[in-house]
Amino acid sequence: MKDQRPLKKATKTTENTAFRDAKRAKMLRQVSEDAPSKLALFERVYDGKAGRKEAIKAQCLHCCWMDVAAIRECTATQCTLWGFRPFVRHGQ
Ligand code: SF4
Repeated sequence: MKDQRPLKKATKTTENTAFRDAKRAKMLRQVSEDAPSKLALFERVYDGKAGRKEAIKAQCLHCCWMDVAAIRECTATQCTLWGFRPFVRHGQ
């Protein structure tokens, strides 16, 4: 059964596009509940308004479910995004 709970916070961009996709709506609902400060990032990515860097950031946040420390400590060097993951200083 689909989760019919409303988003705690919804922006105009979310209403315009992302809600049309059930999977994206579910993700935005989960992000709004667990990490509301990251909601705008996911909305920008879903709306095609984010750049690659933000898309990678959103993917890593999704992968580690909003745990910035876990992204910093990520040891999955086989991941194609590993060298581009956010919250770390690259080239050191
Ligand atoms: S680099 Fe690490 S945190 Fe980012 S998507 Fe890959 S496995 Fe997940």
